[in-house]
Amino acid sequence: MAEILSSTRVPVLISGAGPVGLSLAIELAYHGIRCLVVEQTDGSVDFPTTNLANTRTVEHLRRWGIADKMRFESGYPTDYPRNYLFITRMDGYEIARFDHPANGDPNSRSPYSPEGRLWISKPYFDPVLHRHITTLATVEVRYKTALEEFQQDSHKVTCKIVDVESGRDEMIAADYLAGCDGGKSNVRRALGIQYQGVFSQGLNVAVLFRSPFLKSISYGPAVMYQIVNGQINGTIAAVDGKELWRLNIRNVKQEQIDDLNAPEKLRHALGQNIPFELLDVRPWTGHCVVAEKYQEGRVFLAGDAAHLNWPTGGFGMNTGVGDAVDIGWKLAAILQGWGGARLLDSYTAERKPIAMINVNEAAEMRANFDNQTPFSPKIEEDSEEGNQLREKPVARSCAHARKSFSMTPPASSSDIATRTRRSASPTARQRRSSTTVSTCRRLGPECARPMSGSRTAARRSTCSGRGSR
Ligand SMILES: Cc1cc2nc3c(=O)[nH]c(=O)nc-3n(C[C@H](O)[C@H](O)[C@H](O)COP(=O)(O)OP(=O)(O)OC[C@H]3O[C@@H](n4cnc5c(N)ncnc54)[C@H](O)[C@@H]3O)c2cc1C
Repeated sequence: MAEILSSTRVPVLISGAGPVGLSLAIELAYHGIRCLVVEQTDGSVDFPTTNLANTRTVEHLRRWGIADKMRFESGYPTDYPRNYLFITRMDGYEIARFDHPANGDPNSRSPYSPEGRLWISKPYFDPVLHRHITTLATVEVRYKTALEEFQQDSHKVTCKIVDVESGRDEMIAADYLAGCDGGKSNVRRALGIQYQGVFSQGLNVAVLFRSPFLKSISYGPAVMYQIVNGQINGTIAAVDGKELWRLNIRNVKQEQIDDLNAPEKLRHALGQNIPFELLDVRPWTGHCVVAEKYQEGRVFLAGDAAHLNWPTGGFGMNTGVGDAVDIGWKLAAILQGWGGARLLDSYTAERKPIAMINVNEAAEMRANFDNQTPFSPKIEEDSEEGNQLREKPVARSCAHARKSFSMTPPASSSDIATRTRRSASPTARQRRSSTTVSTCRRLGPECARPMSGSRTAARRSTCSGRGSR
């Protein structure tokens, strides 16, 4: 790019208005720093991925004054229970369940925080951030505008942005540039920064479908149904708490991707009797990678631009929001003159190790679950062998779900129910609906410990089935 004198100067230019770019803009505004966000799309969410905002993310939302907006005014039902079920299929056997109160229930708050995690899919999460941004005088967002290229010197980053409809370009001089532009980040590529780790650990297919009937099945409403049978390894996640769902099919072979029969796969998960309308099918690949560094001079990476992980555990966006907050306050400190000369260098040092823990944790949880769960036709048999197979995933389920959902320590000995029977009776349903706090009863006291941040500790505390009977 030729040296051009830009007409406009901003303290920070953010490329990408996904959840991470928006979070950075809000954090900068919180500190009184102006920024310009450019987003190549119109900002609408075209496919629901993110499900879970963790407690730390919700604490940031609270500081920004929008935690209750997210919880009560996003449009996602406040009374939909966040239950997590392991079943052979929708009309099959229940293997294990973890019951959790709804987003709007006061009991959903963490015992360690004034906030708690929220089940909220991207079509609900992102718009709350977009709407909040419109109230912030220091943030300008330009949709359908792409960052095309940039160059930096010791004083500024000169950015060429382009209106994607008219093709008109404009030069912007920014004190700092943040690449929050997702997994295909142009900013990261332009800096020559590589992802390090293991790419393409598995092919998967996400299937969006509509079925208002699903939440009325005998197992009751849940935000996640993990399906374990001989035909499919998949998770059905609630998108709108009403009728939209996403089936995520794991471990699809490359040769199956092109002519994947999505309706047939849905039948493998739903059984034969639940009507559905297929809406969209998106293949995606699971990676376990982190950028070698997060900064080059005046340019920074955050979110998926800096790390890619399996969705297991819901780490992706949450790790990215943590990046945004970290670089946000540090840029504010430098721009306002109260940060030390080397403060910005601490960004990679602080955030990269966290991403490495999280991408590894997500990959490990996914691999453990896939490798140790018996995806066998026999798991649906009404026999002693079938019973034993249905018992087997319970141990993994406990560890997996407890990690994914950061199970809180029990208030009492009430706990998860592990069942291996077909279709629940009304009595059983009533019994389940009274269960709100979840731990794994098969583990005894060890399983009831709160999760440690240490991976070693986490491994030690996996469900062994001890104390079960
Ligand atoms: C099935 C699935 C389930 C998931 N569940 C969870 C979960 O429960 N919890 C969780 O934390 N994470 C989850 N994730 C991960 C999460 O979706 C991502 O980590 C998150 O969306 C990353 O946010 P981001 O803002 O970094 O990137 P993105 O959301 O990809 O946003 C990047 C934005 O940058 C824009 N852009 C790109 N290039 C340019 C350019 N040159 N100029 C202007 N704009 C540009 C793009 O249009 C896009 O809007 C899940 C992912 C999948 C696949």
